[in-house]
Amino acid sequence: MKKKISIIGSTGSVGKQALEVIENFRDRFEIIALAAGSNAELLKEQSKKFKPKYICLGEHGIERICMDKENDIILFACSGIVGLKPMLTAIENGIDIALANKESIVLAGDFVMQKAKKHGVNIIPVDSEHSAIHQCLRGNRTKDIEKLIITASGGPFLYSSAEEIQNATVKDALAHPRWDMGKKISIDSANMTNKGFEIIEAHHLFGIPYDKIEVVVHPQSIIHGAIEFKDGSIIAQLGQPSMHIPVQYALTYPERIVGIKSNSLSLSYIAKLDFMKPDFEKFPCLAFTIECGKKGGTAPAALNGANDEAVMAFLDGKIKFGEIYVIVKATVEKHAHISNPTLKQVLSADKNAREFAKMLILNK
Ligand code: MG
Repeated sequence: MKKKISIIGSTGSVGKQALEVIENFRDRFEIIALAAGSNAELLKEQSKKFKPKYICLGEHGIERICMDKENDIILFACSGIVGLKPMLTAIENGIDIALANKESIVLAGDFVMQKAKKHGVNIIPVDSEHSAIHQCLRGNRTKDIEKLIITASGGPFLYSSAEEIQNATVKDALAHPRWDMGKKISIDSANMTNKGFEIIEAHHLFGIPYDKIEVVVHPQSIIHGAIEFKDGSIIAQLGQPSMHIPVQYALTYPERIVGIKSNSLSLSYIAKLDFMKPDFEKFPCLAFTIECGKKGGTAPAALNGANDEAVMAFLDGKIKFGEIYVIVKATVEKHAHISNPTLKQVLSADKNAREFAKMLILNK
């Protein structure tokens, strides 16, 4: 029987790669719905090709897709918090989630995971690091984990000085050496905010405390994630740095199939892998993002809202690269923190942080 899939964010980077995977396995998959934020042209093209039951442009309608129990799995490949409420709806309807929408889990990880548990829904990570950990965990028990290891390529500024980073141009910041990604996540990767988000994501997805999640800089991006178990064994997942692999894994799990990017990794060709500690001083966004995760409550939401605005302002040439951190930190510190927020309070923390950050940017 064909696996029935919907993709929220089909015209974005992960969405497009998912459709490339699916295109090769028409006999395995059936597209129920495709949803895009604004790229009507590409959505039209995709719908001609994949003939979904319905398509959706903009935010309205995503909820409707997530209520359709015909879906076996929904890939959330959109960016931002538009994915959050529909994701909760999908979970309530017992539909499995392939998760590429970081914001939903960073802002509301507790809500998402509790609901998934209650409804017996699988949340299969698409983020390469979390996909790696998901794979390393197969056949093992969560209670035997000593720590999770999340690798980071280090981004375009791994070897830059603090001053060079502070004044980096948009072009420099977008030039990621290993991964081909959307603009927002490329900027988040360049200052390592993205890695901080991934720590928060891992904390929620795998239920592991923050002090047992370690970031290791690994410039070759061959090891994507690893688990150290209590007996001292480390199990790691290795692969080419291509999003096709984790996307395909999430869509076909628990099966493994030969895909478009399943070329084998020659260890003797790679010859050597490097590892180092992250430089928290050069990348203050990493330390600050983890701190917000640890604080919990509305802190990650305030962080996300402020970061979105600051990154946009940087891309628009309104602020310096180094000022993203300044704006985010000032906004989070000023926000009225709530330790045990409702979902509504989480969403307003995000919204208020945006307003505050915008004001800071305007007054620059
Ligand atoms: Mg990642």
